[in-house]
Amino acid sequence: MSRPSVAIASLGGTISMTPSDAAGGVVPRLDASQLVAAVPGLGTLADLTAEPLFQLPSASLGTAQLLECLAWAEGKIAGGARGVVLTQGTDTIEETAFFLDLYWRYPEPLIITGAMRTPLSVGADGPANLLAAVQVAIDDQSRERGVLVVMNDTVHRARWVCKSDSLSVQTFTSPDGGPAGRVVEGRPEYFHPPVGRPLASRPVRTFPKVAVVPALLDDDGDLAVAALDLGYEAIVVAGFGAGHVSFGFAEHIERLAKVVPVVIASRTGAGSTASRTYGFAGSEVDLARRGATLSKWLHPLKARLLLGALLAAGTPHQQIPEAFAKWGTLPRHSLTNQQPAP
Ligand code: ASP
Repeated sequence: MSRPSVAIASLGGTISMTPSDAAGGVVPRLDASQLVAAVPGLGTLADLTAEPLFQLPSASLGTAQLLECLAWAEGKIAGGARGVVLTQGTDTIEETAFFLDLYWRYPEPLIITGAMRTPLSVGADGPANLLAAVQVAIDDQSRERGVLVVMNDTVHRARWVCKSDSLSVQTFTSPDGGPAGRVVEGRPEYFHPPVGRPLASRPVRTFPKVAVVPALLDDDGDLAVAALDLGYEAIVVAGFGAGHVSFGFAEHIERLAKVVPVVIASRTGAGSTASRTYGFAGSEVDLARRGATLSKWLHPLKARLLLGALLAAGTPHQQIPEAFAKWGTLPRHSLTNQQPAP
Protein backbone atom coordinates (compact mmCIF):
# COMPACT_ATOMS: atom_id res chain seq x y z
CA MET A 1 0.00 0.00 0.00
CA SER A 2 1.38 3.41 -0.87
CA ARG A 3 2.17 5.74 1.99
CA PRO A 4 -0.20 8.64 2.60
CA SER A 5 1.11 12.07 1.79
CA VAL A 6 0.73 14.96 4.20
CA ALA A 7 1.59 18.57 3.46
CA ILE A 8 2.83 20.71 6.34
CA ALA A 9 3.13 24.48 6.30
CA SER A 10 4.54 26.76 8.98
CA LEU A 11 3.10 30.18 9.78
CA GLY A 12 5.26 31.09 12.82
CA GLY A 13 4.22 31.08 16.50
CA THR A 14 5.88 29.73 19.63
CA ILE A 15 6.43 26.35 18.01
CA SER A 16 8.97 28.10 15.77
CA MET A 17 10.46 30.62 18.21
CA THR A 18 14.06 30.83 19.37
CA PRO A 19 15.73 33.47 21.59
CA SER A 20 16.87 36.78 20.18
CA ASP A 21 18.98 39.07 22.36
CA ALA A 22 18.11 42.03 20.20
CA ALA A 23 14.37 41.46 20.57
CA GLY A 24 14.61 40.68 24.29
CA GLY A 25 12.71 37.41 23.96
CA VAL A 26 11.86 34.61 21.58
CA VAL A 27 10.82 35.39 17.99
CA PRO A 28 9.61 33.13 15.14
CA ARG A 29 12.56 31.70 13.22
CA LEU A 30 12.21 27.98 12.48
CA ASP A 31 10.39 26.87 9.37
CA ALA A 32 8.33 23.80 8.53
CA SER A 33 11.33 21.66 7.43
CA GLN A 34 13.16 22.39 10.70
CA LEU A 35 10.03 21.55 12.71
CA VAL A 36 9.65 18.26 10.83
CA ALA A 37 13.35 17.44 11.33
CA ALA A 38 12.91 17.82 15.11
CA VAL A 39 10.35 14.98 15.34
CA PRO A 40 12.01 11.58 15.38
CA GLY A 41 10.29 9.10 13.07
CA LEU A 42 7.81 11.54 11.59
CA GLY A 43 8.97 10.75 8.07
CA THR A 44 8.16 7.04 8.53
CA LEU A 45 4.43 7.79 8.94
CA ALA A 46 3.81 9.60 5.68
CA ASP A 47 5.41 11.21 2.67
CA LEU A 48 5.82 14.72 3.97
CA THR A 49 6.25 18.02 2.23
CA ALA A 50 7.16 20.99 4.40
CA GLU A 51 6.83 24.61 3.32
CA PRO A 52 7.24 27.93 5.09
CA LEU A 53 4.23 30.15 4.36
CA PHE A 54 4.72 32.88 6.97
CA GLN A 55 6.97 33.64 9.91
CA LEU A 56 4.64 35.58 12.18
CA PRO A 57 3.44 35.79 15.74
CA SER A 58 -0.15 34.68 15.37
CA ALA A 59 -1.46 38.02 16.67
CA SER A 60 -0.34 39.46 13.33
CA LEU A 61 -2.01 36.91 11.08
CA GLY A 62 -5.01 38.24 9.19
CA THR A 63 -7.69 37.18 6.75
CA ALA A 64 -5.40 37.87 3.78
CA GLN A 65 -2.81 35.36 5.02
CA LEU A 66 -5.51 32.86 5.97
CA LEU A 67 -6.98 32.98 2.47
CA GLU A 68 -3.47 32.24 1.15
CA CYS A 69 -3.25 29.28 3.55
CA LEU A 70 -6.63 28.08 2.34
CA ALA A 71 -5.55 28.23 -1.30
CA TRP A 72 -2.29 26.42 -0.41
CA ALA A 73 -4.16 23.68 1.49
CA GLU A 74 -6.72 23.22 -1.28
CA GLY A 75 -3.91 22.88 -3.80
CA LYS A 76 -2.29 20.16 -1.69
CA ILE A 77 -5.53 18.19 -1.36
CA ALA A 78 -6.20 18.56 -5.09
CA GLY A 79 -2.67 17.20 -5.60
CA GLY A 80 -3.50 14.04 -3.63
CA ALA A 81 -2.57 14.82 0.00
CA ARG A 82 -4.37 12.71 2.63
CA GLY A 83 -4.44 15.73 4.91
CA VAL A 84 -2.75 19.07 5.56
CA VAL A 85 -1.19 20.48 8.71
CA LEU A 86 -0.60 24.14 9.56
CA THR A 87 1.71 25.06 12.44
CA GLN A 88 1.03 28.48 13.94
CA GLY A 89 0.94 30.53 17.11
CA THR A 90 -1.64 29.40 19.63
CA ASP A 91 -2.88 32.88 20.49
CA THR A 92 -5.30 33.03 17.58
CA ILE A 93 -5.93 29.35 16.79
CA GLU A 94 -9.52 29.53 18.06
CA GLU A 95 -10.16 32.17 15.40
CA THR A 96 -8.00 30.95 12.52
CA ALA A 97 -9.43 27.42 12.80
CA PHE A 98 -12.98 28.73 12.73
CA PHE A 99 -12.22 31.05 9.82
CA LEU A 100 -10.71 28.25 7.71
CA ASP A 101 -13.52 25.88 8.71
CA LEU A 102 -16.05 28.30 7.22
CA TYR A 103 -14.59 27.53 3.80
CA TRP A 104 -13.02 24.06 4.08
CA ARG A 105 -15.05 21.90 1.72
CA TYR A 106 -12.91 18.75 1.49
CA PRO A 107 -13.45 15.49 3.37
CA GLU A 108 -9.69 15.40 4.07
CA PRO A 109 -8.74 17.03 7.37
CA LEU A 110 -7.08 20.40 7.71
CA ILE A 111 -5.23 20.24 11.03
CA ILE A 112 -3.85 23.17 12.99
CA THR A 113 -1.27 22.74 15.71
CA GLY A 114 1.29 24.80 17.62
CA ALA A 115 3.09 24.81 20.92
CA MET A 116 2.92 26.47 24.31
CA ARG A 117 6.63 25.95 25.03
CA THR A 118 9.40 27.12 22.76
CA PRO A 119 11.54 24.50 20.96
CA LEU A 120 14.54 25.05 23.25
CA SER A 121 12.65 24.83 26.53
CA VAL A 122 12.66 21.70 28.67
CA GLY A 123 9.57 19.66 27.82
CA ALA A 124 8.93 21.50 24.56
CA ASP A 125 5.50 20.37 23.34
CA GLY A 126 5.87 21.34 19.67
CA PRO A 127 7.37 18.06 18.40
CA ALA A 128 4.73 15.92 20.17
CA ASN A 129 1.97 18.18 18.84
CA LEU A 130 3.30 17.97 15.28
CA LEU A 131 3.56 14.20 15.53
CA ALA A 132 -0.02 13.94 16.81
CA ALA A 133 -1.21 16.32 14.08
CA VAL A 134 0.26 14.06 11.37
CA GLN A 135 -1.17 10.96 13.07
CA VAL A 136 -4.60 12.60 13.00
CA ALA A 137 -4.14 13.80 9.41
CA ILE A 138 -3.49 10.32 8.01
CA ASP A 139 -6.29 8.53 9.84
CA ASP A 140 -9.49 7.79 7.89
CA GLN A 141 -11.56 8.51 11.00
CA SER A 142 -10.54 12.16 10.68
CA ARG A 143 -12.37 12.61 7.37
CA GLU A 144 -15.48 14.81 7.03
CA ARG A 145 -14.69 16.67 10.26
CA GLY A 146 -13.55 19.97 8.75
CA VAL A 147 -10.76 21.89 10.43
CA LEU A 148 -9.38 20.26 13.58
CA VAL A 149 -7.04 21.61 16.24
CA VAL A 150 -4.63 19.02 17.65
CA MET A 151 -2.80 20.02 20.84
CA ASN A 152 -1.68 18.01 23.85
CA ASP A 153 -2.96 14.75 22.31
CA THR A 154 -6.48 16.16 22.14
CA VAL A 155 -8.49 16.84 18.99
CA HIS A 156 -10.87 19.81 18.93
CA ARG A 157 -13.39 20.97 16.34
CA ALA A 158 -12.90 24.50 15.01
CA ARG A 159 -16.39 25.52 15.99
CA TRP A 160 -15.92 24.84 19.70
CA VAL A 161 -12.22 25.22 20.43
CA CYS A 162 -11.12 28.01 22.80
CA LYS A 163 -7.76 29.08 24.17
CA SER A 164 -8.56 28.95 27.89
CA ASP A 165 -5.24 29.60 29.62
CA SER A 166 -2.47 32.07 28.87
CA LEU A 167 0.51 29.77 29.45
CA SER A 168 -0.57 26.25 30.35
CA VAL A 169 0.22 23.39 27.97
CA GLN A 170 -3.38 22.26 28.48
CA THR A 171 -4.79 25.55 27.20
CA PHE A 172 -7.20 24.35 24.53
CA THR A 173 -10.68 23.35 25.61
CA SER A 174 -14.04 22.98 23.91
CA PRO A 175 -16.33 24.19 26.71
CA ASP A 176 -19.59 23.57 24.88
CA GLY A 177 -19.21 20.63 22.53
CA GLY A 178 -16.35 18.92 24.33
CA PRO A 179 -13.25 17.71 22.51
CA ALA A 180 -13.80 15.70 19.34
CA GLY A 181 -11.37 13.01 20.39
CA ARG A 182 -8.03 12.04 21.88
CA VAL A 183 -4.87 10.68 20.38
CA VAL A 184 -4.22 7.31 21.99
CA GLU A 185 -1.12 5.29 21.20
CA GLY A 186 -0.55 7.17 18.00
CA ARG A 187 -4.09 7.15 16.60
CA PRO A 188 -7.07 9.46 17.01
CA GLU A 189 -10.10 8.03 18.78
CA TYR A 190 -13.24 10.09 18.29
CA PHE A 191 -16.08 10.40 20.78
CA HIS A 192 -18.74 10.98 18.09
CA PRO A 193 -19.18 10.42 14.36
CA PRO A 194 -18.71 13.51 12.17
CA VAL A 195 -21.65 15.90 11.80
CA GLY A 196 -22.45 18.07 8.80
CA ARG A 197 -21.42 21.73 8.96
CA PRO A 198 -22.49 24.76 6.94
CA LEU A 199 -20.04 26.34 4.50
CA ALA A 200 -19.66 30.04 3.71
CA SER A 201 -19.65 31.48 0.21
CA ARG A 202 -16.31 32.79 -0.98
CA PRO A 203 -15.52 36.48 -0.45
CA VAL A 204 -16.34 38.81 -3.32
CA ARG A 205 -14.90 41.88 -1.60
CA THR A 206 -12.36 42.70 1.11
CA PHE A 207 -13.22 41.68 4.65
CA PRO A 208 -15.08 44.39 6.53
CA LYS A 209 -14.08 45.63 9.95
CA VAL A 210 -16.42 43.99 12.49
CA ALA A 211 -16.23 45.26 16.08
CA VAL A 212 -16.66 43.16 19.20
CA VAL A 213 -17.94 45.37 22.01
CA PRO A 214 -18.39 43.87 25.47
CA ALA A 215 -21.31 44.67 27.74
CA LEU A 216 -19.71 45.91 30.98
CA LEU A 217 -20.93 46.97 34.39
CA ASP A 218 -21.87 50.65 34.48
CA ASP A 219 -21.30 51.13 30.76
CA ASP A 220 -23.78 52.10 28.09
CA GLY A 221 -21.99 50.80 25.02
CA ASP A 222 -20.88 54.17 23.59
CA LEU A 223 -17.95 52.30 22.01
CA ALA A 224 -20.35 50.48 19.70
CA VAL A 225 -21.59 53.83 18.39
CA ALA A 226 -18.03 55.12 18.00
CA ALA A 227 -17.14 52.00 16.01
CA LEU A 228 -19.37 53.16 13.16
CA ASP A 229 -17.42 56.41 12.85
CA LEU A 230 -14.23 54.33 12.66
CA GLY A 231 -15.52 52.47 9.61
CA TYR A 232 -16.78 49.29 11.24
CA GLU A 233 -19.53 47.72 9.16
CA ALA A 234 -21.05 45.42 11.76
CA ILE A 235 -21.06 44.95 15.52
CA VAL A 236 -20.94 41.90 17.75
CA VAL A 237 -21.96 42.66 21.30
CA ALA A 238 -20.44 40.28 23.84
CA GLY A 239 -23.46 40.50 26.11
CA PHE A 240 -23.87 39.58 29.76
CA GLY A 241 -25.13 36.09 30.53
CA ALA A 242 -27.58 34.79 27.97
CA GLY A 243 -27.25 37.91 25.76
CA HIS A 244 -28.07 40.99 27.83
CA VAL A 245 -27.02 44.64 28.02
CA SER A 246 -27.88 47.73 30.09
CA PHE A 247 -30.89 49.98 29.34
CA GLY A 248 -28.66 52.60 27.69
CA PHE A 249 -26.81 50.05 25.57
CA ALA A 250 -30.16 48.60 24.43
CA GLU A 251 -31.16 52.02 23.07
CA HIS A 252 -27.88 52.30 21.17
CA ILE A 253 -28.44 48.82 19.74
CA GLU A 254 -31.86 49.79 18.47
CA ARG A 255 -30.41 52.77 16.59
CA LEU A 256 -27.36 50.84 15.33
CA ALA A 257 -29.38 47.87 14.08
CA LYS A 258 -31.19 50.18 11.65
CA VAL A 259 -27.85 50.89 9.96
CA VAL A 260 -25.55 47.85 10.38
CA PRO A 261 -25.94 44.19 11.37
CA VAL A 262 -25.76 43.82 15.17
CA VAL A 263 -25.24 40.36 16.65
CA ILE A 264 -25.60 39.57 20.36
CA ALA A 265 -23.40 36.79 21.74
CA SER A 266 -22.58 35.80 25.31
CA ARG A 267 -19.39 37.03 26.99
CA THR A 268 -19.44 34.11 29.47
CA GLY A 269 -17.24 31.79 27.38
CA ALA A 270 -19.73 28.95 27.23
CA GLY A 271 -23.39 28.32 26.56
CA SER A 272 -25.98 29.62 24.11
CA THR A 273 -27.76 32.94 24.11
CA ALA A 274 -31.38 32.63 25.20
CA SER A 275 -34.22 33.61 22.87
CA ARG A 276 -37.47 33.56 24.85
CA THR A 277 -36.67 33.72 28.54
CA TYR A 278 -36.03 37.30 29.70
CA GLY A 279 -38.25 40.24 28.82
CA PHE A 280 -36.61 43.24 30.57
CA ALA A 281 -35.19 46.18 28.61
CA GLY A 282 -31.79 44.99 27.37
CA SER A 283 -32.73 41.30 27.52
CA GLU A 284 -32.38 38.90 24.61
CA VAL A 285 -36.12 39.16 23.80
CA ASP A 286 -35.93 42.95 23.88
CA LEU A 287 -32.74 43.13 21.77
CA ALA A 288 -34.17 40.82 19.13
CA ARG A 289 -37.23 43.09 18.96
CA ARG A 290 -34.91 46.05 18.51
CA GLY A 291 -33.41 44.40 15.43
CA ALA A 292 -30.37 42.50 16.76
CA THR A 293 -29.55 38.90 15.82
CA LEU A 294 -28.84 36.37 18.58
CA SER A 295 -25.73 34.29 17.98
CA LYS A 296 -26.98 31.21 19.87
CA TRP A 297 -23.96 28.91 20.43
CA LEU A 298 -21.37 31.05 18.66
CA HIS A 299 -18.93 32.82 20.96
CA PRO A 300 -18.28 36.52 20.24
CA LEU A 301 -14.93 35.91 18.51
CA LYS A 302 -16.39 33.28 16.19
CA ALA A 303 -19.56 35.32 15.60
CA ARG A 304 -17.34 38.22 14.49
CA LEU A 305 -15.60 36.04 11.89
CA LEU A 306 -18.87 34.62 10.57
CA LEU A 307 -20.34 38.11 10.29
CA GLY A 308 -17.26 39.29 8.41
CA ALA A 309 -17.40 36.31 6.07
CA LEU A 310 -21.09 36.86 5.36
CA LEU A 311 -20.56 40.52 4.52
CA ALA A 312 -17.44 39.72 2.46
CA ALA A 313 -19.56 37.28 0.44
CA GLY A 314 -22.07 40.06 -0.28
CA THR A 315 -24.84 38.61 1.92
CA PRO A 316 -27.71 41.10 2.16
CA HIS A 317 -28.25 42.35 5.72
CA GLN A 318 -31.73 40.86 5.91
CA GLN A 319 -30.28 37.36 5.36
CA ILE A 320 -27.87 37.59 8.28
CA PRO A 321 -30.34 36.27 10.92
CA GLU A 322 -30.99 33.21 8.74
CA ALA A 323 -27.26 32.56 8.38
CA PHE A 324 -26.73 32.84 12.13
CA ALA A 325 -29.60 30.43 12.71
CA LYS A 326 -27.69 27.96 10.52
CA TRP A 327 -24.30 28.31 12.23
CA GLY A 328 -25.50 29.13 15.72
CA THR A 329 -27.83 26.19 16.26
CA LEU A 330 -26.84 22.58 16.67
CA PRO A 331 -27.79 19.93 14.11
CA ARG A 332 -30.84 17.97 15.17
CA HIS A 333 -29.85 14.36 15.54
CA SER A 334 -32.43 11.71 14.74
CA LEU A 335 -32.29 8.33 16.37
CA THR A 336 -32.19 5.50 13.89
CA ASN A 337 -33.35 2.22 15.34
CA GLN A 338 -30.60 -0.30 15.09
CA GLN A 339 -31.47 -3.88 14.34
CA PRO A 340 -30.26 -6.29 16.98
CA ALA A 341 -27.36 -8.39 15.79
CA PRO A 342 -28.58 -11.73 14.40
N1 ASP B 1 2.07 32.54 22.54
C1 ASP B 1 1.89 32.32 21.18
C2 ASP B 1 2.01 30.86 20.78
O1 ASP B 1 1.66 30.05 21.59
C3 ASP B 1 2.55 33.23 20.25
C4 ASP B 1 1.74 33.23 18.99
O2 ASP B 1 0.54 33.00 19.03
O3 ASP B 1 2.33 33.49 17.95
O4 ASP B 1 2.43 30.49 19.74
